[in-house]
Amino acid sequence: MLISTKISEIREIIREERKKGKEIALVPTMGYLHEGHLALVKEAKKSGAFVVMSIFVNPLQFGPNEDFDRYPRNIERDARLAEEAGVNLIFNPGVEEMYPTTNLSTVAVGKLGDCLCGTSRPTHFNGVTTVVSKLFNIVQPDRAYFGQKDYQQYLIIKQVVKDLNFPIEIVPVPIVRESDGLALSSRNVYLSPEQRQEALVLQKSLKAADEWIRQGERSGSLIEEKIKEMIRGESSGEIDYVELRHPETLDRVEMIEDSVLIALAVRFGSTRLIDNKLVEGL
Ligand code: AMP
Repeated sequence: MLISTKISEIREIIREERKKGKEIALVPTMGYLHEGHLALVKEAKKSGAFVVMSIFVNPLQFGPNEDFDRYPRNIERDARLAEEAGVNLIFNPGVEEMYPTTNLSTVAVGKLGDCLCGTSRPTHFNGVTTVVSKLFNIVQPDRAYFGQKDYQQYLIIKQVVKDLNFPIEIVPVPIVRESDGLALSSRNVYLSPEQRQEALVLQKSLKAADEWIRQGERSGSLIEEKIKEMIRGESSGEIDYVELRHPETLDRVEMIEDSVLIALAVRFGSTRLIDNKLVEGL
């Protein structure tokens, strides 16, 4: 496995792989790898492509009072896990390499960025679309892999690819969870043992909501209220949002029809966790 911090080297290595007839797959991450990230790699390996993983804690997608400085980082551990998983090349640039200018051009997200996480993190998705567009231009992959844990991000990236005509297929990968149901996240390391235990209510409430819907409940706002009630009743978590939205347009869903996205964000102390469930085939 190769590791480089330089855009020019990355381009050179990929050019050589292309010459050999290899397809290129990209797995963008902020590092501190866990099984969720490795599931993306596993999916990327299936196609036989040369797999490039980017590891970059992108300052542009953090708000002024968010956790950019304390975001967990461990490149040696990441490199070991990535190599074991079959990554061929890690791109691990510094901030200077990615953003050498203060007069930066950015990619502005459309309407899909206005709700859910975009409400409490107003600059977040522009940071994501900018860095991902840069990675797409640097690596020029055939396919890029995104987790459904960040469902809104996945939809936004699909929209950017369409709107800006990137010739790249966006492949979604299902959420990977701990055995007790907590969705894997690099931020889980911030949780105290008590918060870690309380956070189980997120998956529990999503499962319960799935059940209520399958039993015939069709009111979006009623389901939202019932989920909030469960979270408040079983944890000290502070709810950012619990919303039922259309799985493609992210429009608010009042009457549930054939499918619905249940998305939530809850703060445990200073740690904000997100989770979601796509309820389909109704
Ligand atoms: P991050 O390093 O948190 O920016 O995540 C990098 C990629 O891994 C994104 O596409 C995430 O959606 C994906 N990812 C993170 N956690 C999970 C998870 N638990 N299951 C599936 N994909 C995940």
